[in-house]
Amino acid sequence: MKFNTKTIHAGVHADPLTGAVMTPIYQTSTYKQVAPGNHQGYEYSRTHNPTRTQLQDNLAALENAKHGLVFGSGMAAIDAVVKLLKPGDEVIATNDLYGGSYRIFTKIFQPFGIQFHFVDMSDMSQIKARINDKTRMIWVETPTNPLLKIIDIKACAALAKQCDALLCVDNTFASPYLQNPMDLGADIVMHSVTKYLNGHSDVVMGALVLNDDQLQERLAFIQNSCGGVPGPQDCFLVLRGIKTLHLRMARHCENGRAIAEFLRAHKKVARVFWPGFTDHPNHEIAKSQMRDFGGMMSFTLKGDHIGDALRTISNTKLFTLAESLGGVESLCGHPASMTHASIPREEREKAGLKDSLIRLSVGIEDVDDLIVDLDQAIG
Ligand SMILES: *Cc1c(COP(=O)(O)O)cnc(C)c1O
Repeated sequence: MKFNTKTIHAGVHADPLTGAVMTPIYQTSTYKQVAPGNHQGYEYSRTHNPTRTQLQDNLAALENAKHGLVFGSGMAAIDAVVKLLKPGDEVIATNDLYGGSYRIFTKIFQPFGIQFHFVDMSDMSQIKARINDKTRMIWVETPTNPLLKIIDIKACAALAKQCDALLCVDNTFASPYLQNPMDLGADIVMHSVTKYLNGHSDVVMGALVLNDDQLQERLAFIQNSCGGVPGPQDCFLVLRGIKTLHLRMARHCENGRAIAEFLRAHKKVARVFWPGFTDHPNHEIAKSQMRDFGGMMSFTLKGDHIGDALRTISNTKLFTLAESLGGVESLCGHPASMTHASIPREEREKAGLKDSLIRLSVGIEDVDDLIVDLDQAIG
């Protein structure tokens, strides 16, 4: 089955009781047993729920994986992955990372004795330098946030195999429409379903997909033991959102390209970070592992004044100033004062994150309106 068909049909089937074509919301916590242990595969909704099962199967199919697990948020999914490890284990993670991932690694799991190393993963030698006999996991996020660097997933998979570590890829920015890390050698793919997969900015959810049966058993055990599961109503909404994932992503990419090109030609714009440009430093890797380049981008203004950036993001009328990304509506943000404010200015500068950097999540509105809006906001 091809991707555009899978979004609608994979994992979902008409309700056996009524023939309902759309997956019912099984709003129940428990299930009748005829005799103790004699049931229809469902006992309690922390462990299993039929609406959730269909979503999990759908997501696994979209990522060309065997198993899927969904969680109450992207962070709950990451939490479950790190719980595969034990004190003394080490993780190598990308340094241009979602802030919440950095926080859970350093503030929650480091005190339990798990060691995290953050390196620039666009340079493989930096990963190699951190590998030792305690390395158990390599954590990749690509494209990176907010600088849209691209990390070579295949090369990371080869390194992970060498040291017998798990390769986990946070595929939130790309979505399975643009990139399938399982096909490139990842062991686990993680999603903040909140973003492109649901796509309508009305649900918070996370997901993991994977192939290995034993790993699946352990993660399902962690999921059931720790309990970070989503409710059936949210699973229904995400199933509905995913049915148009391919249509939305195609428009996100089309609008993204037009806006990246508009910004690059704007006289007040200094630099545009978008992997679709042929002179983007990682364009070749992007081309080899992604089907298109998406609607996420960032740009800096000439002069690099924080005031100009703040004025621009306050002046937009269609682009809403907000955290998050991947919804049908266009959003803008200012990493230096929002998502990345906790990083000292010096460190931000070193990483190339300038004060005037503005991040855009380009939505699926009419691109002419979006361009008019950006043009008047930049001034
Ligand atoms: C939003 C996000 C997360 C966290 O997901 P939540 O659903 O907000 O818990 C993790 N990684 C990336 C790349 C994200 O954008």
